[in-house]
Amino acid sequence: MYIEVILPVPLADSYTYFVPPEMEKRMAPGIRVQVEFGKNKRYSGIVHSIRQIPLELLKTIKPILAVESERPIVCHPQLPFWEWIADYYLCKLGEVCHAALPPGLRSESPTAYTAKKKTFVRLTARYSENTDFNQTFESVKRAAKQEELLLAFFHHTQETHGVIAKNDLLTNNGASTAALNGLIKKGILETFEKTISRLPVYSPEVQEPNTLHPRQQQAYRSITKSFKEKEVCLLHGVTSSGKTEIYIHLMAKTLEQNRQALLLLPEIALTTQITERIRKFFGNKVGVYHSRINDNERVEIWNHLLDDSGYQIIIGARSSLFLPFKDLGLIIVDEEHEPSYKQQDPAPRYHARNAAIVLAKMHGAKTLLGSATPSIESYFNAQTGKYGYVRLDKRFEEKELPTIIPVDVKELRRKKKMKSIFSPLLIEKIQETLQAGEQVLLFQNRRGFSPALSCRICDWMPKCRFCDVSLTYHKQSNRLSCHYCGRTYPVLSACPECGNPDLKPIGFGTEKVEEEVKTVFPGISVARIDTDTTKNKKSFEIILSDFASGKTQILIGTQMISKGLDFENVRLVGILNADSLMNFPDFRAYERAWQLISQVAGRAGRRKTSGEVILQTSHPDHPLIRTALSHQYEAMYEMQMEERQLFRYPPFYRLIYIYLKHKKEDVLNAAAHVFAQSLREKLGDRVLGPEKPPTSRIQNLYIRRILLKIEAGVSVRLLHEIIKESQNRIRSESVSSSVIIQYDVDPV
Ligand code: ADP
Ligand code: ZN
Ligand code: ZN
Repeated sequence: MYIEVILPVPLADSYTYFVPPEMEKRMAPGIRVQVEFGKNKRYSGIVHSIRQIPLELLKTIKPILAVESERPIVCHPQLPFWEWIADYYLCKLGEVCHAALPPGLRSESPTAYTAKKKTFVRLTARYSENTDFNQTFESVKRAAKQEELLLAFFHHTQETHGVIAKNDLLTNNGASTAALNGLIKKGILETFEKTISRLPVYSPEVQEPNTLHPRQQQAYRSITKSFKEKEVCLLHGVTSSGKTEIYIHLMAKTLEQNRQALLLLPEIALTTQITERIRKFFGNKVGVYHSRINDNERVEIWNHLLDDSGYQIIIGARSSLFLPFKDLGLIIVDEEHEPSYKQQDPAPRYHARNAAIVLAKMHGAKTLLGSATPSIESYFNAQTGKYGYVRLDKRFEEKELPTIIPVDVKELRRKKKMKSIFSPLLIEKIQETLQAGEQVLLFQNRRGFSPALSCRICDWMPKCRFCDVSLTYHKQSNRLSCHYCGRTYPVLSACPECGNPDLKPIGFGTEKVEEEVKTVFPGISVARIDTDTTKNKKSFEIILSDFASGKTQILIGTQMISKGLDFENVRLVGILNADSLMNFPDFRAYERAWQLISQVAGRAGRRKTSGEVILQTSHPDHPLIRTALSHQYEAMYEMQMEERQLFRYPPFYRLIYIYLKHKKEDVLNAAAHVFAQSLREKLGDRVLGPEKPPTSRIQNLYIRRILLKIEAGVSVRLLHEIIKESQNRIRSESVSSSVIIQYDVDPV
């Protein structure tokens, strides 16, 4: 017997191995096997298929070394899903396997994870048969401590089938190990080890979901109706309109039909806040899966799903699409517009929202996309009737959407009325809010102190020596740091070009905002959320809970504060520099800026008073800002669609970025030209470049980018054949065979 094995390495899709006769019976797709790969390297891989082999190849094929799982650890339709990802996103099956399996299931060492054991106490066989308590107690009559402990033992194990954890028995009763040992010596009690789960266990009591408000009820009915005809439905509901409550009802219905539900959230929104809220209704039926969960637990969640009585709901980040679901009935993608649904590095560079729709189809399940600010692509699909569309225009209990007040900072600067980064109006509103005992969020989408230092005489700017990007100044550490590769540099005392000793910061980041808040509002408690302050796993939760409890009055943050957070007491949101959101070279810049402004604004006034947003900008009359002020999604959409069509962007065209990387610039240039030329022969002016991308050197590798703009509707298969053919052409030339080639399909 021969099998194809998928190994978690980025080389080929799969490798052929021989199955020794004694292992044949246990072979099936999805079984984990151990094989030798390369020189003396052992890997765990997944059986893809069982196959026939031409005789002449037989000699070269190695046998598998061991069968590592009793049952398949990957179940249908996972393998076809992996194949779809590899195919559509132009990568290897091994790369998908690597992304899909938790490290503990793909580790190179055969013993993947160690079970967690705990010591328990029970009666010995002799005494458990003896139901005469008096007789049992007779033997401890003269040992008061032992008698006490034995009483406690009977008391605590009445409802637990006579078993209690050793620690619980000792700590809850202040008993000594000596007393326990005495009872063990007398042959009354004995200890034993048991494998226990690391997964949290919750109270089995759950609440009934809240009754839906009539408007929510109507939305719920429209969604279920749309699911009768269409695979996907877009729920376009303003912030705080009660979308999450509708998700809960849809999940409950899915469970009633004995099917599973998956709720995808952008990683950062996966706070305890939302999981606790959902757990209240579904208790232990809910599993949570994301990158902050440790590997052992991830493996347990995986195995738990393989059991017949496994989780029925998973709340997770994008990687939870790869869990072994048996029968999904519903996938909900919350905040579907979030760019973080796209995996960047390494491959597979998949878009979790789009992959979710494909996975749902394979299960015969439905997909609900939820957002207050849908992506242009999804809204377009709803407009053209491909997706169902349901709208919620009002906040729950008729709360008003926050009022957004624009402030012209250019004008104020000219009149010298800005107090550092704050406009007089923002200062006044912050004071008012704090006096009323309410809270403030300040949003600035840059971390660090200032995005760059620069010489005002010769315009020199410090850049990373390994990447083509300017360095960010971090005041606390007094270092310049590269946000691409993480390297840091000392701060220079003078310009190396002209000797000017006065290097000035340009722009500002969250660290500077924090410093300014402390100066302008002394004595006010302030905290900051960005990737610098939340490196430690727990710190994110702590900062959030301090803000929720009111301990912190002003919270400063990057886009990390824009989503998923629900704080009752936030009246005021300050957007410190809206222009910086719009000014970056990407066709999605305006769409993103609009979404960020609306999402951040949506944090204001969710419960009590209606909220207010102060939006500082140098362009208060910019059409994009105007549509944001009036919450007019459609106006923004129409505006963007015109540009997208004109300049051949999604949703009218599909984009594929091809990145080529190499240490030597001349080798890279030559290879990029050959690649582009070869593509052009078949695809004509759909091919652009090669060009230098905005960051044209990272980690000492030069980078070139070729852009493909393909009309929607062109066959993916045909296109991919053309790309692979061109790639083979550079691979076959010895000079350029070492050039790294990466594909980014549907970049965000
Ligand atoms: P969204 O997900 O659209 O931002 P949520 O579902 O979080 O909105 O609802 C906003 C607030 O209103 C939450 O605090 C939620 O508990 C409350 N809420 C929404 N719908 C109901 C309902 N039917 N019954 C009780 N409270 C609700
Ligand atoms: Zn200079
Ligand atoms: Zn760098």
